[in-house]
Amino acid sequence: MTELIEPATGEPLTSVASGTADDLDRAVRAADRAFAGEWRRIHTRARARLLQKFAELIRKNADELARAETRNVGKPINDSRDEVGLAANVFDYYAGTTNKVGGQTIPAAAPGVLMSFREPVGVCGIIVPWNFPIAITSWKSAPALAMGNTVVLKPAEQTPLTAIRLAELALEAGIPEGVFQVVTGAGSVVGDALVRHPLVRKVAFTGSTEVGRNVMRIAADDIKRVSLELGGKSANLIFADCDFERAVDSAATSSLGNAGQDCCARSRILVDEKIYDRFVAALIERFDRVRVGDPLSNATEMGPLVSTAHLDRVMQYVERGRSEGATLATGGRAPIGEDCARGCYLAPTVFTDVTQDMMITREEIFGPVVTVMRFRDEDEAVRIANDSIYGLSGSIWTRDIGRAMRVARAVQTGNLSINSGSSVHIEGPFGGMKQSGLGRELGLQALDHYTEWKSVYIDVS
Ligand code: NAD
Repeated sequence: MTELIEPATGEPLTSVASGTADDLDRAVRAADRAFAGEWRRIHTRARARLLQKFAELIRKNADELARAETRNVGKPINDSRDEVGLAANVFDYYAGTTNKVGGQTIPAAAPGVLMSFREPVGVCGIIVPWNFPIAITSWKSAPALAMGNTVVLKPAEQTPLTAIRLAELALEAGIPEGVFQVVTGAGSVVGDALVRHPLVRKVAFTGSTEVGRNVMRIAADDIKRVSLELGGKSANLIFADCDFERAVDSAATSSLGNAGQDCCARSRILVDEKIYDRFVAALIERFDRVRVGDPLSNATEMGPLVSTAHLDRVMQYVERGRSEGATLATGGRAPIGEDCARGCYLAPTVFTDVTQDMMITREEIFGPVVTVMRFRDEDEAVRIANDSIYGLSGSIWTRDIGRAMRVARAVQTGNLSINSGSSVHIEGPFGGMKQSGLGRELGLQALDHYTEWKSVYIDVS
């Protein structure tokens, strides 16, 4: 068994099974049998209804799921509620695709009839991280199930609680046994066995770039389909003609959401030199006003980090920033207040006087820590934004529509928002360029990961 620790208090929360490679093997075999059995024969409208029922049950149990997510991850309860709602909406969205997305008849040069089908891939191995457990689970399992695949899900070892509850709700919704399975345990044991299992035909992974690279290497052995959502170090480009107040506010919320443990966090803030000093002063004031504390309180804007091990890792970056010569403008220590006396808290942290070669501007810190840098003009802003191995998200703040579109096209990133800090829309593709990943989730694009095109030709002579 693995003991889970509540990040807000440092106290034991509960224990979950530490799955083994044998447990994983049994789950995959059951998923393979389910794929070949009843699930294959359920017609598309019935499959849609099952997914809609699953979404309904997620909504019906939203309070319990949100509370479990908050106590397990440490994220503010309002965020957990939003993410549970998002997961239900994702299942509804993909329920709508079961009978609308299919193959084609193709006007080929040959005299017969050429048609194509979208076939399900088979057993899909889904590996998710600890930062958005229920949301990311839905992004992968909903399109997989909608297209007729079966799923074996490996949640992060620190945050398996909502995944376990989802497996129960799937059965309650009437999804046949074996179709949606969860195996808890260590990444190096259960995750590794999932990626190596010969009956798993596709692996959908979200996590660090380092582990993702390894997943891709192993998957090469038997040419498994792989999609990867990996790390980020996204830029927030603030031009002098922006709506100043909104840009400041969004610079805080889009870097401190989930205590900065967000692959889309705009953790590199690039500011036009014409407004740099005023912006930095306002940003520090805004960071200092963030209500950090008990994640179960409705008033809390930012909770603790996920674990002491992770807090230590983030603090090493803070120390590194100082030793590299950056100025710690605010934060870098535990917040003051009774709520934060125990638990894994770090105050919102701003570094200024940074350069592009510092580790804190290059590596993903995955905590409530931003660097602020000035730029002279549009070209320099784009050059700095693109000087990264990552390309996941980002924002542009300007009132000049021409500039907004020029910069949006020039920044090498999979998702970008103009005068907004948002990254994820269920209806549109989400994913990274460069080392931020491979493939796109959400939208209709995600369906390509979970289907194989099959061409069938009929000789009519
Ligand atoms: P991680 O890579 O350590 O773990 C992710 C998952 O992989 C966990 O379930 C873990 O148990 C499993 N795992 C670990 N070792 C494995 C192995 N050898 N084989 C198979 N599976 C293994 O990442 P994390 O620390 O849980 O999550 C943080 C990272 O996730 C950050 O880099 C973040 O940017 C990234 N992330 C990306 C997105 C995205 O959509 N691009 C979304 C959220 C998080």
